[in-house]
Amino acid sequence: MQIPFRRINADPQPFSLHKGAAEMEGILRKQRFGLVLLEATIKGKIEVDCYRCGDSFAIMPDEKVEFLVSDGVFRGQDEQYDVVEMHDGVIDLDEIFDSEIALIASDYHACDKCQ
Ligand SMILES: [Zn+2]
Repeated sequence: MQIPFRRINADPQPFSLHKGAAEMEGILRKQRFGLVLLEATIKGKIEVDCYRCGDSFAIMPDEKVEFLVSDGVFRGQDEQYDVVEMHDGVIDLDEIFDSEIALIASDYHACDKCQ
């Protein structure tokens, strides 16, 4: 799902997307020029590998994510939020979702046997 920056205004715009059994649901809202605030929750199921035995198993995340999406290169700093840059004038929610899933999966997870 790709949403052009120019379509985002100050009214929160809801979105939701699914990838396998995982889902990301949230809102996009223009924060200031060239910056959009994304607030979302990641739920459902994500397959991860146990860091001890390597077995795959599913976890059920309930992860809140909040960051700014920048239309192009972001110069400067934001006190409150991390900033993710997008380079084609669109917010690529699939790409954001993929990297959030990868981030969750890269944590240390232990399966039932190894806990
Ligand atoms: Zn294990």
